[in-house]
Amino acid sequence: MEINSFVKKRPFIISGPCSAESLIQINTIADQTHEYIDVFRAGIWKPRTNPDSFEGVGKVGLKWLNEIKSKYNIKVATEVGTAKHVDLCLDAKIDILWIGARTTVNPFYVQEIAEALKGVDIPVLVKNPVHPEISLWIGAFERLYKSGLHNLTAVHRGFYSYGSSAYRNDPKWEIPIELKRKFNDLPIICDASHIAGKQNLILEISQIAMDLDMNGLMLEVHSDPRSALSDSEQQITPKELQNILRSLIFRDGNLKTTEVKSRLLEIREKIDKLDEKLVFTLKDRENLVKEIARFKLEHGITIFQLDRWFEILKKRKNQAEQINLDKKMISDIFEEIHKFSIFTQTKIMK
Ligand code: PEP
Ligand code: MN
Repeated sequence: MEINSFVKKRPFIISGPCSAESLIQINTIADQTHEYIDVFRAGIWKPRTNPDSFEGVGKVGLKWLNEIKSKYNIKVATEVGTAKHVDLCLDAKIDILWIGARTTVNPFYVQEIAEALKGVDIPVLVKNPVHPEISLWIGAFERLYKSGLHNLTAVHRGFYSYGSSAYRNDPKWEIPIELKRKFNDLPIICDASHIAGKQNLILEISQIAMDLDMNGLMLEVHSDPRSALSDSEQQITPKELQNILRSLIFRDGNLKTTEVKSRLLEIREKIDKLDEKLVFTLKDRENLVKEIARFKLEHGITIFQLDRWFEILKKRKNQAEQINLDKKMISDIFEEIHKFSIFTQTKIMK
């Protein structure tokens, strides 16, 4: 694939609200951001998990986006999920289209969009599919490319993962890096907002993206995030956007350091996951300690039983020895666990 993307400047900034809510709302946001962003984004058809959620203003939003485009002389982008959306956007002269994560997962939809775009080399951003399957992401680029679309850009927005995590969508940085290795000249924009899911994590994710030499950022901005009709927890104010852009540090990237950093991140992510499990295990242990405390109370048994404590310590030290883990570390950790266990029980016995 010979990519000829419009993303040239670094970092390339695409910003705007998750959803266009009213002309006044997008106008206020554009007014406060247009000077330091490259593309103004706003969703008008919103693929929502829950049917009762705000599903976007629909085609009236195209008119509003056009007003922003001419008033601020800025390129505008919106999400398309069907051929009908594509036709409406082309008629309305929207500059850039993006395919959302829930659409990239479905080759039927991607094909339909690719066919509707035949003959118009409009820039298209393709978000990664919701789940971490790189071949679906690549397949989407190939379908668009075969339809004559060469102005392509990838948007990394993280991946759904079952269970709790600090981020809304797991970044799995190794996947966009693999994409870059395959398609050298395909720019990658990091959608730090959808990865983070929370305002306070956006800077750290954006910085990692810059350290990994990504080409730019997609950041959701709202003039009053708390009242936003979608993704209110992850939208930042125009002022916060400016602060984030000012705080980013740009280092010279080359493939070697990128690889080193991505490996480092991979290992750190694994450590974080284990630590998370450890904390959940401690919570489960605390619940059992409470249960045993209630039982002891009911049967008039004392809290502290030395024999039991020695038995616990002995078992865990033996286990440590068997798997070649420092016995002293294990006995120190269990001393602490035991201390808190007695504390938890005494609270219940009171
Ligand atoms: C969005 O950009 O507002 C959006 C819906 O994104 P995604 O497809 O990444 O969930
Ligand atoms: Mn959103």
